[in-house]
Amino acid sequence: MRKPIIAGNWKMNHAPAQAATLLAQLIPLLHETACDVVVCPPFVSLSETLSLTRGTPIAVGAQNCHIEKSGAFTGEVAPDFLAEMGVRYVILGHSERREYFGETDAFINRKVRAALSCGLIPIVCVGETLAQREDGVTAELVSYQTRAALAGLSPAQVGSLVIAYEPIWAIGTGMTATAADANTVIGIIRGQVRKTWGDAADMIRIQYGGSMKPGNAAELMAQPEIDGGLVGGASLNADDFAAIVHYQAERNA
Ligand code: PEP
Repeated sequence: MRKPIIAGNWKMNHAPAQAATLLAQLIPLLHETACDVVVCPPFVSLSETLSLTRGTPIAVGAQNCHIEKSGAFTGEVAPDFLAEMGVRYVILGHSERREYFGETDAFINRKVRAALSCGLIPIVCVGETLAQREDGVTAELVSYQTRAALAGLSPAQVGSLVIAYEPIWAIGTGMTATAADANTVIGIIRGQVRKTWGDAADMIRIQYGGSMKPGNAAELMAQPEIDGGLVGGASLNADDFAAIVHYQAERNA
């Protein structure tokens, strides 16, 4: 049984004071959770978030890291620094980083290795554009992105990390993949993992991301292949994020 994992990607929102306000609303709503819960603030709010979430079920993730341990890389943050602070997860290969910062599959693979080497758990994002979906290349593309991002890893490493399947056309648009579609594509990703890394496919957790909300979380999470959610917009609202985390209660309501 894979433990579900819901992660909030705050993107470039919430400097420390706003992060504190959101966490003050969120923490009382998340005393008991049936799934792993992660919040990923911007770098500048990590310290505040780590100190406010200490002793709660909420783990903290970063939204990016560099590939090197230190050196002349102005403006970058080493994964070791994050691990030393107590950060547990790091989002890598988000479509916004691929699109706006030119991150390639090979570079993302180097980031994944660097993150794992210092004990961070990568949340590796893959997903197709609308044009790619309409061209019928979704399966081929996400399979390739998965192989490329995880190249050279051992089955144990692959089993320990998280993939987020995020159809790019569904991110921040209010459009969601149907639960059945998301389940199918995530099944394809898991099949690719099985082909290369065997039983790691039974361990790796694969999230859906793309306009996940309280109203669709339960249906998405009911799909057998979907192990969690990477939540953007809705993670900035405490009630919405908590309702997604408590999707089972919503389902039973
Ligand atoms: C994301 O950016 O990872 C995301 C899924 O955003 P949203 O939930 O806003 O679509």
